[in-house]
Amino acid sequence: MSYLGEDIKKLGFGFMRLPMNGEEVDIEQTKKMVDHYMELGFSYFDTAYVYMNGKSERAICDAVVSRYPRESFQLATKMPMHPIKEYADYQPIFNESLERTQAGYFDFYLLHALNKDSAKKADETGGWKFIQEMKAKGLIKHIGFSFHDSAAVLDEILTNHPEAEFVQLQINYADWESDNVQSRLCYEVARKHNVPVIIMEPVKGGSLAAMSEELEAKFKQANPEASVASWAIRYAASLEGLVTVLSGMSNEEQLQDNTSYMKDFKPLTDKERAVIAEVVEIFNRAPKIPCTACQYCVDDCPMKINIPRIFSTMNHYMTFGNLEADQRSYENVVKDRGRASECLHCGSCESRCPQHIEIIKELEKIAATLEA
Ligand code: SF4
Ligand code: SF4
Repeated sequence: MSYLGEDIKKLGFGFMRLPMNGEEVDIEQTKKMVDHYMELGFSYFDTAYVYMNGKSERAICDAVVSRYPRESFQLATKMPMHPIKEYADYQPIFNESLERTQAGYFDFYLLHALNKDSAKKADETGGWKFIQEMKAKGLIKHIGFSFHDSAAVLDEILTNHPEAEFVQLQINYADWESDNVQSRLCYEVARKHNVPVIIMEPVKGGSLAAMSEELEAKFKQANPEASVASWAIRYAASLEGLVTVLSGMSNEEQLQDNTSYMKDFKPLTDKERAVIAEVVEIFNRAPKIPCTACQYCVDDCPMKINIPRIFSTMNHYMTFGNLEADQRSYENVVKDRGRASECLHCGSCESRCPQHIEIIKELEKIAATLEA
């Protein structure tokens, strides 16, 4: 079924974790991945002004826009709310996205990572007015927003902004019933407003692809051929009312795997859903820091602390309990960066975290555990 008049397969190519060659995007490998993806009839590319400090939008130009007819793919990018102070701030950022991508127009354009505060800022500074003006000029086909907050806030935004044609939500089986992310409740609000959904983080920043042996065995027993990640992506794609499901593919292997089961997508069966329910039950027993590795907190940390990688190491420890191995991993992560114990408590990271994580407190606990 198509939404918003667009016929889009249920696997979108997220350009947020591209293959790298040192500090630069490995553009040759990216091109190969794009070619494979397009050959199989997929067509949706997702980037953002802030991804990879602008390198992602430039990679879109080099790997997609300059090599394929413009009407053969859909391109989404996003307006960051953090640098916006007044209405005049929108246009230069939008122009820069157009200039970097050379796309001419955007099929989907999003106010990026709205929550209660940034939604208020968008209202006060004319964010919605701006993107509607760009749409009227033919520079955007569909306007919407990505979202990180409670279902109640989502309800408020969709009620106040009937012009929103779609919403991008964080949905995965581990967060479906979570109090923090509220995947199910947010999805139900979008359905109530009859607004199609784009799904992000179906694999929860990679954590539903690399599981413990116990959990992996459950999946392998049910289907030896299917990758662990495929269960998470098919879970998301089985929902009704979707434009597409994004996957931030960072190598050829992930792309081959994702496209293999998404080219002729089949929704989960009841039996498969029961396997996931069993895995969720086990997975949820271990406490975890709900970091999705979005990286929004990283750039402005004065101590250059790699917060998401440190959190991922701590989560690994809390799930699998191998202190020695995780202390080694931790030392590796902080080798050229700040240590958790070097946090200055400035709070810059916490104000940016869409998951509302108490980063400072978590870093204190991590310092006491992994630096001991
Ligand atoms: S509170 Fe700590 S981790 Fe966060 S930005 Fe400041 S120094 Fe970095
Ligand atoms: S701590 Fe928050 S802002 Fe930082 S990477 Fe994790 S989810 Fe994103």
